[in-house]
Amino acid sequence: MQSEGTVRVAVLFVDFDYGERRQSTEEVFNINVPAAERYLEAASYGKLNIEFEPLHEWLELSYNVGYWLIRAAIERADPVFDFSDIDSVLVITDPADWGVDLDTFIPETSSAGILADGSRIMHGVIRGSDVHDQGGSRPEWGGYVVARGIGHNLGLVDLDNPGETDFISRDQYVGNFGLMGNVATTSGNGGSLGGFVSMYGTEMLAWHRWQLAWLDEDQVACVTSFPATVRLTPVAVVGGTKAVVVPLSPTRALVAESRRKLGHDANTIRSGVLVYTVDTTKPSGTGPIIVYGSSSSSKIPDSSALLKPGDTLIVEGYQVAVEERTSDGDLITISAPEGTAVAEATMTPACAADLIHVSVGSSSQCHAAEAVSRDAFSSTRARLSESRGDTTDLKIRVSPTAHSVVVSNVLTRLQNGLAFWSNELPADLQIVIVVSSVADREWLIEEARDHGHDMNSVPERMWKQLAEGGPGAFLGLYKTGVLYFIRSEPLEEDVWVSAPAHELTHHVQESLYGSAERRILPCWWEEGEAAYFGVALTPIPAAVEVDYEYFMSMRDSFIEAQTYRIDANGRSVSDWTEWLEANGPSEGICSSESDVYGPGLVATEYLLGQYGLARMTNMMSAFGPAVSWQSVMEQTYGITIPQLYEEISVHLRAVFGRPWPH
Ligand SMILES: [Zn+2]
Repeated sequence: MQSEGTVRVAVLFVDFDYGERRQSTEEVFNINVPAAERYLEAASYGKLNIEFEPLHEWLELSYNVGYWLIRAAIERADPVFDFSDIDSVLVITDPADWGVDLDTFIPETSSAGILADGSRIMHGVIRGSDVHDQGGSRPEWGGYVVARGIGHNLGLVDLDNPGETDFISRDQYVGNFGLMGNVATTSGNGGSLGGFVSMYGTEMLAWHRWQLAWLDEDQVACVTSFPATVRLTPVAVVGGTKAVVVPLSPTRALVAESRRKLGHDANTIRSGVLVYTVDTTKPSGTGPIIVYGSSSSSKIPDSSALLKPGDTLIVEGYQVAVEERTSDGDLITISAPEGTAVAEATMTPACAADLIHVSVGSSSQCHAAEAVSRDAFSSTRARLSESRGDTTDLKIRVSPTAHSVVVSNVLTRLQNGLAFWSNELPADLQIVIVVSSVADREWLIEEARDHGHDMNSVPERMWKQLAEGGPGAFLGLYKTGVLYFIRSEPLEEDVWVSAPAHELTHHVQESLYGSAERRILPCWWEEGEAAYFGVALTPIPAAVEVDYEYFMSMRDSFIEAQTYRIDANGRSVSDWTEWLEANGPSEGICSSESDVYGPGLVATEYLLGQYGLARMTNMMSAFGPAVSWQSVMEQTYGITIPQLYEEISVHLRAVFGRPWPH
């Protein structure tokens, strides 16, 4: 779910008639929702506006759990509630009922989401009866529970281990810190889940705010040369530097942030600097974040972890020292372990997780993964502005009933691509563009035969898809410079808008490769490159300024349309490496079922943003039937395939591990 701008959450109240109802929906709403809204909007520093839209009615359901409960509640509410423009659904169970657990529904739970009023609802939260009473008389408890569920919708993982009932095992990683840690208990205060005395340190961690794009790039100090001194402002106040991040490996980082007895940290025993490590390879519940420095006898991190002036803490050899505390923040110094080489030498590929070390050589800054995306975009635009223009000889063939809008759209959308690839395409090349409606199938088969193509081998289901205007609405065959576009509907803008530039990219791949007989390049690359340049080279409407933000919105909607089927958010770096390995060369065409388009686009973007366009085009012309693609890639990028895959996987994790879409 997007973490910026306005998101709309439907609030439904359900009842299973297990107990006598004691509260109105208005009362239950007021206990749970306004505090959640205040928490999340404040944590976002104003970047998120969350609107909860309640349906004040108890919906009677038979017993149901998880995704099925959310779906049943939506179905019951649908006749009287408008779900169009709803991003998530919060289902609150009758507090008198028991046995319905807190749960969060995110895309991986169900492949297709829940359809209602034209919306595809991909997120939901159940405010279960298991947690209704645990807050006792504490009014903020309900709000934290709901905010935490919405936190999952936004893409954040559990920092405690909810599978453990023993509270030491459960809360060993971060204790009470952050929204995704334990928002209820203090350590050791009675009962297996602890007591409910105070909520310590519930302000959202700076790392999570950064993941949600609630911090600007300059609010995170990425430290790669030592010693480094940084002034941190408390996370509970707006503005200033919120986190120091020290990369420990491509997937791990050390983080420090400032905590004051303010906001949701008002109950901490003292103020100070919180130090933790982040490991993005660790899934939810297994300690992706670990807080250091607590002296709590219960082994659960508590306020004793907060460093005061004069304190030092050493984590994996790196020393964090608090120099001074002023009214606006904490001044800290980070030193590297004895003998640590300077950052330049240790930074390949560099900054942890959401960080990618962009500069390969001289300077040693850390950038967010976004910087890679930005560099990829700007190198594409730079090449486009320098290109010699579209001089390709085009021959256009149009079937008897083809719609003229389709013809003009196809030609318009090819222009940037022809200009961009002009150095790669032979100067005397003639490209034949065949535009046909589905109804003119016989004409098309005849036309294709003239170009040496056998359209009779196109499977029947493809024709059916084309007739329905669904996926595959454009079909490109590139051999011998012929591109086919088959479309009956004169649609102006849709998800297939990038198809002409996509198919043209395949044509360039095959021209440079020198053989179209058999595809032996990995599918993640072949389709990923076509997907990237498809989006990047599709002309932007004249009224819109050609800027990075506009490109990213097109890129994100393309990726989202291509990726919703797979568990992209939950994948670790090693999952992505496996994904790259699994999407190697295909005997036939690369399967659209394996989702190579969305993540493949992101992989291409990494190579382009990190290593530049020149190496990419060199690599394309070095590919050929006589050499292995692995050796070409290794020579192009100067590292081994496993190393390259890890770098790409870190970027994939950084892009998809963030809340999606973003
Ligand atoms: Zn393709």
